[in-house]
Amino acid sequence: GEFSGFDESTLISPVVTDCLVLVDHLISKRNIEIKLDLNEAPAVKIDPGEMQQVVINLVVNAVQAMGDNGVLTISLNQMDQDGQTGAALVIKDTGPGIPLDKLNSVFDPFFTTKQAEGTGLGLSISQSLIQRAGGLISARNTGDGAEFTVWLPEAS
Ligand code: ADP
Ligand code: MG
Repeated sequence: GEFSGFDESTLISPVVTDCLVLVDHLISKRNIEIKLDLNEAPAVKIDPGEMQQVVINLVVNAVQAMGDNGVLTISLNQMDQDGQTGAALVIKDTGPGIPLDKLNSVFDPFFTTKQAEGTGLGLSISQSLIQRAGGLISARNTGDGAEFTVWLPEAS
């Protein structure tokens, strides 16, 4: 209806490839290797521009965390969550990871550990956009860096 938000379905794969074009200069400047593993996943109910904003926030954070010669892995898969079909996008880096005492703070508005270029709003805004679309966003350390997972329910 009129006030129910975005009514169409968005495929995540083309949003990811569009984002990589936008941040290509940043990635090649730092000599970062990208591993893409985009598999078939259901369309989700989020505005493609908002999804792009989320993916760019996560990719820029990953690149900033890694410095030179890192590996950025982006995977898309169908994934069920509490019996609901959906799509999971995982963005993994080989940076230092997130200190354990900061893991619960990274989604707070204005939380940043960056000297000058950080507003601390990227993850907070991303979480709002994903939650409004009925999804979840989470962060964890892999032992080899940080990993962010975005899950969104299938568009009905
Ligand atoms: P900003 O990038 O402006 O600092 P964000 O909301 O995007 O704000 O991120 C908040 C904080 O979360 C960062 O300052 C950093 O401390 C931490 N963070 C986010 N992504 C990563 C990552 N991939 N690896 C390590 N720390 C991260
Ligand atoms: Mg950021």
